[in-house]
Amino acid sequence: MTTANAYPVTQTIRTIGILGGGQLGMMLAEAAMPLGYQCVFLEDNPECPASLYGRVFHSDQLADFIAAADVFTLEFENTPTSTVEQLTSLSKSGSKQGMFPPLIALDIAQNRLKEKQMFNALDIATVPFMEVNSEVELKQACEALGLPIVLKTSRGGYDGKGQFVIKQDNDIKTAWLELKDAVSGKGSLTPTPAPLIAEGFINFNREVSIIAARAQNGQVRCYDLVENHHHHGILAKTQAPAVGTSHLLQQATDAITKIMNHLDYVGVMALELFVTKDARGHTTILANEIAPRVHNSGHWSIEGAVTSQFENHIRAVVNLPLGDTDNVHPAIMVNVLGQYPDISAVLNIDGAHYHSYHKAERDDRKVAHITLMPNDVTDLESAMAKLVAVLPNKVGLDKEYGSIDTQSNTADIAAKNDVLEDNDAEAELSPKTERAKK
Ligand code: AMP
Repeated sequence: MTTANAYPVTQTIRTIGILGGGQLGMMLAEAAMPLGYQCVFLEDNPECPASLYGRVFHSDQLADFIAAADVFTLEFENTPTSTVEQLTSLSKSGSKQGMFPPLIALDIAQNRLKEKQMFNALDIATVPFMEVNSEVELKQACEALGLPIVLKTSRGGYDGKGQFVIKQDNDIKTAWLELKDAVSGKGSLTPTPAPLIAEGFINFNREVSIIAARAQNGQVRCYDLVENHHHHGILAKTQAPAVGTSHLLQQATDAITKIMNHLDYVGVMALELFVTKDARGHTTILANEIAPRVHNSGHWSIEGAVTSQFENHIRAVVNLPLGDTDNVHPAIMVNVLGQYPDISAVLNIDGAHYHSYHKAERDDRKVAHITLMPNDVTDLESAMAKLVAVLPNKVGLDKEYGSIDTQSNTADIAAKNDVLEDNDAEAELSPKTERAKK
């Protein structure tokens, strides 16, 4: 891939090796190119989305992949830690220029128990939780935490798999039988034996996330809090910024900054949070999990922020100054799951941006995303209704947007703010006004 004489002679990093080659890798490569970097990928599917942007090496070709790149990062956190260890020691010996993020971030992000223990050690609030290694410990956890609880595998599991909500005593045995193999490492529930985690079931009001980038010199830049809606456990929609959350931004910013500093992290990280009420009835946030990589809830930043999460990740990895993370315009990102829509119908919507992942259609597979950023923020809701109308898979959004009159642009964001506003929040403004105030 590398072209002779294509780089300034002072540029010592030319090629970035990315572990994984999905759409996140593809969008990282899209961001790397204008900065003057090429990407190669370690990925077993030769037709992965990233293959359009750079050479793909099979995991059997690890040595060739290593030889092809100067610095390394990842787009997939379930990457074998042994590969990351190897890349880290090559970097320590000086033969490569780094593996970012650090191995410890991966180790913690792959384990729900370690993750929540780290949050609490850093004074970041979480749901109450307990480690569970046996049926007896599960019964003790149910008693101590109070039902309902969520029993989860601490490793593996995604999109709600490897989780069981225990609502009554009768469920305890069933939940244990369903998940106990994770403790011994049998079956396909977890990659390695690991305890279960019992969490108090939280009646959260909303799910939000914050994304931040940390540079090699320790500088941290945070994006706005965004609100996420899931459908069958898969992200369906992200609204950026999350309406009515400016009073929570500092708390979220402090939390992710503490985590990144603690891990001496380099690159982009996402922190997923629940918005709930504390004992005094005040709105607060609880940390749920980190993603040590660019994140689906940050895709809006390609058009909606001064510098996208993908560009900032690349900048951090190659040791360039981070870019401004300010939101330039309120946006909604919608995941296209399973089936592609008619692209011209989508682009007929004012302010719609389309990103195909060049994947074959398959049930509930993320095949593209669309970011809506109409010039007039009051058009956002009606643009959503138009989009939902042309999506083959409505990802549950038709319930919220199906009945909006798409002819009138009166969808009233201010009214929505009123509904979402918390009693103890500072007076909320529309996102646009909020931004103008900064
Ligand atoms: P996780 O895999 O831990 O991110 O959980 C997946 C989803 O399950 C979250 O996005 C929440 O919607 C829900 N969830 C997870 N933990 C809890 C909890 N302790 N209480 C209520 N809902 C939860």
